Order: sequence, then structure tokens, then C-alpha cells
Amino acid sequence: MAEARNAFTVDLEEWFHICGAGDALAFDNWDRLPSRADLTTRILLDLLDAANVRATFFVVGWVAERHAGLVDLVKRAGHEIGSHGHLHQRAFDLGRDRFRDDVRESVRALSVAAGQRVTMFRAPEWSINTRSTWALDILAEEGFTVDASMAPVKLVGDVSYPRYPHIRTTPAGPIKEMPPLVADRFGQVMPMGWGWGLRMSSPDRVLRTIAAANRADQPAVLMVHPWELDPDPPRVRLPRRLHFAHYFRLSGFRARLRDVLNGTSFCPLGDVLRASPEP
Ligand SMILES: [Zn+2]
Repeated sequence: MAEARNAFTVDLEEWFHICGAGDALAFDNWDRLPSRADLTTRILLDLLDAANVRATFFVVGWVAERHAGLVDLVKRAGHEIGSHGHLHQRAFDLGRDRFRDDVRESVRALSVAAGQRVTMFRAPEWSINTRSTWALDILAEEGFTVDASMAPVKLVGDVSYPRYPHIRTTPAGPIKEMPPLVADRFGQVMPMGWGWGLRMSSPDRVLRTIAAANRADQPAVLMVHPWELDPDPPRVRLPRRLHFAHYFRLSGFRARLRDVLNGTSFCPLGDVLRASPEP
């Protein structure tokens, strides 16, 4: 049997790219806030390199415009590039027309920074859900073949969504949906493969969850942000839910992530898709 392929993904954004964070982190302030993307992405690149892991980086177009050299560094390290939107706005907040404009702007910025046309997308805050399934139609119309925006958890997604790769049909053609890894714990579905769930879980528990997916012949999809590895993260006052999502158990995360990276095999999303037969 072929070795199971798990995907490691990164949402490359600034620490202040937090949807719904309020005035202090509003777009008008972005160019005045301290940039941490270069420093923290390099820390992550070193971790990935030490573990011999290549990943998919979903890059915010606004970041690519300001850090073209960083995007080039990511690409030259063998990682795959996708879009995380241009101004890090939730799909359902933008609506159809502004979502399409934002996606196009990110494609343009990433074409300049990475020298390629991107075809993979992840919406900020997993914001393709029942409020915005039209976004998949637009992505397909704009030439995207892979989306990784639909989280099978409540709050940002829906626990009824499929947990593993599947095809979504749109009027413009099929698009492959690559959900992030979840687990049933504490009587709820928790984000085992990203965010607070990944940061709070022991590497052993994460690896056991990945192994269980692989035994069912399914890949696990993990995601981290560079800002989760910031040795001195800027502190801002956030609403309670966002504070938890952003700051909970950052301490020691770099070492735990290293153990997860070394504990099984990971590759970019494109390699996972090439390894699995078409459904
Ligand atoms: Zn994001």
C-alpha cells in the first residue's frame, strides 16, 4: 500500500490580519503596524526545512506586494503557492462582486511575486460556508481548481461538512475541497489540525489523529500561521473569541510543532491530490 500523504499548509499573513478585530487593526492602520511576516515566516521555513517538509503557502496578496522577496524565498524552498485573498476579508462580508475583485487582485499580486498563476485558494477565517457557497462558483470561474476553506467545525464552518477531500460541483466546473483535520473531543468537533486545537494538543495526540485518518485511507490537512511562531508576539486587545484563537497556548508551540512535523510525513496539497485517484 502506498504511504499515506498528509498535507501541511500555511496561511502567510501578518499578525494583524484578524477578521472582525475592530478599529485598532483596521485596514487603514496596516501600513503603520509593525510587520512580523518576514521574521516569523523565516522561523517557519527553518522548521519545515529541518523536518524536510514541503508545504502549501496560502499568501495574502497585500503581504506579497510588500514582501516579494519572501514569497520568492518560500517558492525557492520548494513550497507551493496559493491565494489567501488580497486584503484578508471574509467571503461573506465581501459579497459576490467584491469577493471576485479581491480574488483577482490577489492573483495579480501573486503572479508578480511568485511568477506563476495560482490555482489554490483558502478564504480568510474559513469563510466559505453556508453563507457564501457562491464563492466556490466564483473561484471555479476564475480558474481555481482547489479550495481549502470549508472547516467542518461550528463557529466558522459546519460540523456536517465532509471531513476529507471531496469534489464540489459548480456551474463553472468541479473544484476539489480539502478540509482541515478535526477530531471529536470534549463532546464537540475541535480543530485538531490548526489554531487553538493544534496548539493545545500534545504532539502524540495530533499524530494519533493523523494516523487514524491515514488508516481510513484519508489524508490529514494541517495549517499554521507564521505569527503563531513569533518569539515576541505583539499584543492587542481583542474580543474574547478572537483573543483565544490568536493567543491561546502559543508558549512552546514551536517545539510541539517540530515534533508533529517529525512524527509523520507531509507534503503540499498538490502532491496529496496527485497521489489520490480521481473520485
Ligand atoms: Zn488568515
